[in-house]
Amino acid sequence: MRWSRQFIPTLREVPQEAEIPSHRLMLRAGLIRRLSGGLYTFLPLGLRSLRKVEQIVREEMDRAGALEILMPALQPADIWQRTGRLEAMGGVMFHIRDRQGRAMVLGPTHEEVTTLLAAQDIDSYRQLPRTFYQVQTKFRDEIRPRFGLMRAKEFIMKDAYSFDVDEAGVDASYEAMRAAYVRIFARCGLRTRVVEADTGAMGGRDSQEFMVLAEAGEDGVIDCPDCGYAANLERAEGRPPALPVVEGADGPSAEVETPGARTVEQVAAFLEVSPRQLVKTLIYLADDRPVAVLVPGDREVNEIKLQRALGAGRLALADEARIVEVTGAPVGFAGPAGLDLPKLADESLRGARGCVTGANRADAHRVRVDLARDAGALAYADLVFPCAGDGCPRCADGRLREERGIEVGHVFKLGTKYAEALGASVLDEGGRRRPPLMGCYGVGVTRTLQAVIEQRHDAQGICWPAALAPYPVGLLCLNTRDAACAAAADALYAALIDAGVEVLYDDRDERPGVKFKDADLVGFPLRVAVGERGLSRGVVEIRERATGVTDEAPPEAAAERIRTRLAELVAKESADGA
Ligand code: ATP
Ligand code: MG
Repeated sequence: MRWSRQFIPTLREVPQEAEIPSHRLMLRAGLIRRLSGGLYTFLPLGLRSLRKVEQIVREEMDRAGALEILMPALQPADIWQRTGRLEAMGGVMFHIRDRQGRAMVLGPTHEEVTTLLAAQDIDSYRQLPRTFYQVQTKFRDEIRPRFGLMRAKEFIMKDAYSFDVDEAGVDASYEAMRAAYVRIFARCGLRTRVVEADTGAMGGRDSQEFMVLAEAGEDGVIDCPDCGYAANLERAEGRPPALPVVEGADGPSAEVETPGARTVEQVAAFLEVSPRQLVKTLIYLADDRPVAVLVPGDREVNEIKLQRALGAGRLALADEARIVEVTGAPVGFAGPAGLDLPKLADESLRGARGCVTGANRADAHRVRVDLARDAGALAYADLVFPCAGDGCPRCADGRLREERGIEVGHVFKLGTKYAEALGASVLDEGGRRRPPLMGCYGVGVTRTLQAVIEQRHDAQGICWPAALAPYPVGLLCLNTRDAACAAAADALYAALIDAGVEVLYDDRDERPGVKFKDADLVGFPLRVAVGERGLSRGVVEIRERATGVTDEAPPEAAAERIRTRLAELVAKESADGA
């Protein structure tokens, strides 16, 4: 393809709408254009790379034995009613009506549709195991669509669903998908971290996410450099350091006046103690019943953990009126001593003494509290988000680190929830009817594409892996007005096409500087420059974008050299990513 015939509207200015490097580069390199919040058009170069990601995904799914299907994006709402997810999904679903007034939704994911397919057409263990997949547009009314393709309202996902008759089967199906994901991301030139994830609202057991570590990531990732433990922040456990025991801790607890001090920082400053010395008492409503939740002053409650520990269907912080009613004090002064509520404390508070709590009285706190002695009946559970520096939950000496990650893939064991709700069942070997065990597996295809750029760019532009570049080779004719230069470039272009190399030929009548800049921005893994100076020495220049390593070849031999270099690059990149 000739640059002069392509549509590559590169931008010199940094577009205002973009906050992170990959989003800026997708706009600047002319890969995508914004229609409105969370909605993007793929321009020719962006679409070429997107198709390459899809192709890799398809090859690896097929290789793992999954079967491609295509399900409707438009779905009747009542199938979501039957699994209880019409409500659970909340505002994320796009709702519409057909002309008969029937309620419809645009699919944010496809567990319901796939399970109904199985209910219709899978009846016996003999038909199992089966894994179906599709590459399809999903719709989610995200609260904060941002960062371009990272969090869009319409995006492409590869979603797969497995059906098995027993646990051993689902373990094998899950493992096959997990292994396929490792290969997919490696082939995309991405370094990913596999982390334990929460099973959240989907309802299920094992769950892992594939994270691309990047500052722009919206997910927290906790890991232990010693033993390799890694988990999504929501799911992660940790061992916070024990509370420091201060002098006089064993003395009787006492109330002290703390006028106007209600936040952890204010109280700590007023009493001249560290925030760690404080114990926060929060009043939650678990299925509308109040409960006191105690966590260290410098920690945040992880509500997913709390909800699970309480076994609650619904969980919310109590409002001001309710807090006043149950503690007898305004917000900010709750404490466990004398509070007549069920009390749940974070594991790290076991044995805590010499700490500061609220006194259930306005403008007062209680010091030298020994929880076991003064707080009445307490249950303990892991309730907080870990922080960098906490002890590793798996090994003795490891200290946790905290990083940011972009979730590009997610694998999940779903159990029988969907099969039961939608009436899917199979006859097992013993002739008994039972719901199949399901797994679901998602790759954010469009998000993966952008994550590659987030991980692989420099100040000049995109450093595409050869497997995903819109064109892996950029051929630059440095002077189109010079007949010999143009003829040599034309000949090399023809030779590259004959050699089956995808090449973009910059045949524009532009200065070399402009062409070099654009080539770096668009990010050809190999840039081939044909110029008068080189030709006078009988060579063209071949430069590797990622390393800057430059090589020369006679024009006649260049096409073959480029083809080999490219194959080497692809092999090296996927080995590096693995
Ligand atoms: P997130 O936590 O980022 O909202 P999710 O866990 O809700 O994502 P899944 O239901 O697991 O997403 O979807 C599978 C994959 O689809 C994700 O791993 C992610 O790569 C991608 N994805 C999810 N939501 C979006 C979105 N709004 N825009 C682009 N890709 C998305
Ligand atoms: Mg997910």
